[in-house]
Amino acid sequence: MASERTYIMVKPDGVERGLVGEVISRFEKRGFKLLGLKAVQPTRQHLEQHYGDLKDKPFFPKLVDYMLSGPVVGMVWAGLSVVKTGRVMLGATNPLASAPGTIRGDYAIDVGKNICHGSDSVDSAEKEIALWFPEGVCNYTRSLDKLIYE
Ligand code: UDP
Ligand code: MG
Repeated sequence: MASERTYIMVKPDGVERGLVGEVISRFEKRGFKLLGLKAVQPTRQHLEQHYGDLKDKPFFPKLVDYMLSGPVVGMVWAGLSVVKTGRVMLGATNPLASAPGTIRGDYAIDVGKNICHGSDSVDSAEKEIALWFPEGVCNYTRSLDKLIYE
């Protein structure tokens, strides 16, 4: 369904390295529709909620510190199968296992500095959108869609 939505976030390393535009550009050019975009310096509590499923993992404290190290840029993209396709576009969690042509495969090396986040299911996408965009996001129709969808 073209109304499927995902939450994509450029992490602090990606923001500082000037990769925000690159991430936006890849989703834009692919044909996905931008519904929300903002830079934010998240709090520890906010990040602990975002990564709540990982709280028992040994890397969790380091992950939260990494995510607190600077602003992040969060975005909401919509389109057919955007959750799964977004993950494919980001690449594997460990950048060394990411194929060239993916964002992590082109721009990252270490798992603890892997530039970007993407929701892993439709359900978690909607939860993450509600967490990061409590004010809501845009919705609009695009005439362009007739050139992208058959
Ligand atoms: N992470 C890490 N070490 C690990 C696994 C994950 O530092 O061994 C970090 C990494 O930044 C990853 C984030 O924790 O992106 C969330 O992990 P998850 O398994 O959800 O991977 P993702 O969904 O981001 O691919
Ligand atoms: Mg994840």
